[in-house]
Amino acid sequence: EQLAYYDPMFQVGNRAKYLRDVNTLISYDKRRKFSMFCIDICSFSKYNELFSVDIGDTILREVILRLQCLFGDYLYRINGDVFLGLLFVETEALEEADRIRALLRTPVNAGNMTFSLDVRIAICRYPVHAEKPEALLDCIQSALRYAKEEGQEVTVYSETLDELIRTEARILQILRDSLRQGTLEVWYQPLFHNRSGRFTSAEALVRLPDGGGGYFPADRVISIAERNGMVEQVGDYVLDRACAFMVRQGQKLGLSRIGVNLSVQQILVGNSADHLMERIAASGLSPQAVTLEITESILIQSMDNTVEVLLQLQQAGVHIALDDFGVGYSSLNYLSSLPVNTIKIDRSLTRQVIDSPKQYALLRSVVEMAEINALNVVAEGVETAQEQKIITETGVDYIQGYYYARPMPEAALQEFLLNGVQKKI
Ligand code: C2E
Ligand code: MG
Ligand code: MG
Repeated sequence: EQLAYYDPMFQVGNRAKYLRDVNTLISYDKRRKFSMFCIDICSFSKYNELFSVDIGDTILREVILRLQCLFGDYLYRINGDVFLGLLFVETEALEEADRIRALLRTPVNAGNMTFSLDVRIAICRYPVHAEKPEALLDCIQSALRYAKEEGQEVTVYSETLDELIRTEARILQILRDSLRQGTLEVWYQPLFHNRSGRFTSAEALVRLPDGGGGYFPADRVISIAERNGMVEQVGDYVLDRACAFMVRQGQKLGLSRIGVNLSVQQILVGNSADHLMERIAASGLSPQAVTLEITESILIQSMDNTVEVLLQLQQAGVHIALDDFGVGYSSLNYLSSLPVNTIKIDRSLTRQVIDSPKQYALLRSVVEMAEINALNVVAEGVETAQEQKIITETGVDYIQGYYYARPMPEAALQEFLLNGVQKKI
């Protein structure tokens, strides 16, 4: 009994005991509801690594004592620093989560030191979320994974969350495969240059085939790549493809620049400017033909570091565009002090220009301000002739939007730019 159902170190129930207990509970009275809590001590391994295994054990022992006050015999250590507890109360699960946090809030003493613990809590309920102990465990583990990924302290399981995690895992797998096989696609959307009346540049946009003839939304793919440490790989792939495309086709198609989006992680890794410049150089494309697009939120997250990197890139000849301008943080005042050549006004702003004289005036002042600072202005997301007309009047330099052209694969872009034919995509 002891060997099979108890953790030998800490005398607390193990996974096998959890399965047995819940099976017994359910077969005894399957209508009796209970809530299940999973408690994970954040980055626990650091205590073992930075101090000693003894310190780690002392902390765990104390955590177990405290959790037993709440869960009694229904506490289980399912692995390392992850605990499960069952409660048979009808109170709100979130209130119970607060009680757990309160229990663990007092710092733990171990080896003459005190440690403040951070914990993550996932919650699921019997019988709402699942009716078998194994299935309950699956639910709570996916809720815990979600809590970790999103940096949430407390997460309650739900089916939508489960669906979300499943799709994310699928997208991640497809992304990995497509990188390995080189089947990740890069599409291009041309930018119309108002003064010359021609398409003089394009933006590269990543396209991940979903296996059913469609594509996953690019921003979702990027955010999954970001959360799984893959965005540098994706970013390099897109940059390489886009540069190679320009070397091959740029001149012929009358394109003098290509825009490539950067994600925050690509900027914040060490040597990012050198790395990006090396890749551009390796492609044989002149840095002057590259615009790297960063969003304002990247800038805001880490102003000093980012500005440093952008300056380096600019000095090497690359243009910098501030993407999604107008979405949230925009301040016309700080623009002049940033290493930026172009601002790209987000669709949320451009589409309001039609009905709102105030928005029109705002866009006008953005254009004027940009002129004073020798910045180019791109209006993004222009869809209709009416929008195109009004926005052209504001004096923006470039227009990018479905009105002129949708993003399209390389061959289609070639057809479009050379023969003016746009395929339905
Ligand atoms: P973004 O950089 O602002 O790109 C413009 C987005 O607006 C594209 O969406 C484009 O398809 C869409 N768009 C263009 N014209 C119109 C229009 O007239 N109406 C509307 N409603 N939308 C229009 P997409 O391709 O889905 O990309 C979404 C976002 O994902 C991009 O926004 C960018 O932030 C990110 N992204 C795409 N590719 C990459 C990449 O290779 N690396 C990184 N880091 N991010 C990327
Ligand atoms: Mg962009
Ligand atoms: Mg944008």
